[in-house]
Amino acid sequence: MLIPPHVADAVRALPRPVCGYVYDAAVARERATAVRAALPTGAGLYYAVKANGDPRMLAALAGVVDGFEVASGGELALAAGHPVLFGGPAKTDDELRAALAADATIHVEGILELRRLAALAEDPGAVRLALRVNRPGPPLPGSHAMAGTATPFGIAEDALPEAARTAHHLGLRPRGFHLHAVSNNLDATAHAAFVTDALQWSTQRADACGIDLAYVNVGGGLGVDHTGERAFDLDAFAAGIPDDPRLVLEPGRYLATAAGWYAAEVLDLKRTHGRWFAVLRGGTHHFRLPAAWGYSHPFTVLPVEEWTYPFDRPTLRSSTVDAVGELCTPRDVLARDRHVERLRVGDVLVFANTGGYGWDISHHDFLRHPHPQVRWLDGA
Ligand SMILES: *Cc1c(COP(=O)(O)O)cnc(C)c1O
Repeated sequence: MLIPPHVADAVRALPRPVCGYVYDAAVARERATAVRAALPTGAGLYYAVKANGDPRMLAALAGVVDGFEVASGGELALAAGHPVLFGGPAKTDDELRAALAADATIHVEGILELRRLAALAEDPGAVRLALRVNRPGPPLPGSHAMAGTATPFGIAEDALPEAARTAHHLGLRPRGFHLHAVSNNLDATAHAAFVTDALQWSTQRADACGIDLAYVNVGGGLGVDHTGERAFDLDAFAAGIPDDPRLVLEPGRYLATAAGWYAAEVLDLKRTHGRWFAVLRGGTHHFRLPAAWGYSHPFTVLPVEEWTYPFDRPTLRSSTVDAVGELCTPRDVLARDRHVERLRVGDVLVFANTGGYGWDISHHDFLRHPHPQVRWLDGA
C-alpha cells in the first residue's frame, strides 16, 4: 500500500524512535462527502463518534455531516453545539438530562427508558426520540451483529407494540425507528437491501403503532477492508436504496478509518523457534484492532537511512516477519507472516487504515510506555 507523500513526510519528521499516529482531516471529509453523494436528497448523515472521538476529527467532519451520533455523556459533551443523536443501552439520568438539554434525538432502547425519559422531560411531547428496535432479521454480512440476534441493544420486535403504547400514554412522540444492525459490512448490495427493507418495515410498523414516520435511522456498518483489497461499493449502494428523505445514516468506520496511519519504528529484529519478529516501539496498546479481531494488519516499510551506531545494522532480506509490539505479552501482534524485501532496525512500519477504532479502543496505559505522537494534517 502506498503511503501518501505528505503522510510519509509527517512520519519522518516524528522524533526517534518513531511512534505516532498521523491523521489527514481531508480524507475524512472526502469519505463523508462521498457517502453524502450516495444518499437521497434530504437524508441525514451523522458521524458515529466512537470510531474516533478526537475533537479534530469532529471538527474535520462538522461541515460535511449533519451532526454526530454519540453514545455517552462524554461523547455528548464532545459534540456540544452540533445536532446530536444519542443512543446506547445504559443511559443514566444525568446523560438523559444532558441529552434533553442539548435537544438531541434520543434513540430509546427500552420501555423503562421511555418512562425515565418522560419523567425527566419538562414537556414529553417536545422530546425528539426514535425507538431502537432489535429486529429478528434480515441477516447481514459483516462483523459485530448488534441486532437480529440476542444482544442488549434495542427493543425486541415483539415488545414494540407495548413500547409504542407506553410512549403514547406518557405523551412521548417517537418520530421513527433506529435499526443499526451490524458493523463492517463490505457487501454494498446486501447493505442496500437491508436499508430498503428497513424503510418498508418502518412504514408498516409506524402505521400499526400510530407513529407519524419521519425518521428511519439504519445506523452505520459500511465496511472497510483493512487489507485494502476490497472496498464498499458506494455506487452500488446508492443504486440500491430508495429515494426517501426520511433515511438517516450514522457511519463511523467508513469515515474515520482511511484518515489515519499508525507508524512504529523497528527496535529489534530477532528470530526464535524459526520465526522472525520485528519488535516495534508501539503495539496493540496503541492499535488494538488486529488483536481484538484476530487478523493481521498490513504495513508498508518506510526506509530510514540514518544509522548512528558503530556496529552493523541488523537487516532482514526477502523474508517473512511478524510485526510485534513492546508489551510483555505474546498477544501484542499487529501483523503475522508479512513478506518484506528488506527490513532494517530503524526502519518504520506504517499501518494505513488505522484512523477508526484504533487509538480509541486501545488500552493505552498497559505497561506505561509513552503514548504515541499525534499529528493532524489537512490535505497534501
Ligand atoms: C458503532 C455504532 C455505529 C457506527 O458503526 P460503524 O460500523 O463504525 O459504521 C453507528 N450506530 C450505532 C448505534 C453504533 O453502535
